Amino acid sequence: MKAMKPIFRTKQYIKYGFVKMEHEYCCCPKCRNILNAGPNYQPEFCDRCGQALDFSNTEWEEDKRLGFLKPEAV
Ligand SMILES: [Zn+2]
Repeated sequence: MKAMKPIFRTKQYIKYGFVKMEHEYCCCPKCRNILNAGPNYQPEFCDRCGQALDFSNTEWEEDKRLGFLKPEAV
């Protein structure tokens, strides 16, 4: 089976309840399962469908801070 490059997506989340962050995460190219991968750990296979994964030349981005949530109007 030929290894495929994972697909990268970005997702926003809220840190500390008010900081808007953007996180880049990678998905299986075959079943779109979100892979538990990062700069220190890259699985060789998708844990859901078994697709072989190729993380060579992957550049890992740090989470980006997009801004702050506006405080609720009082
Ligand atoms: Zn998969």
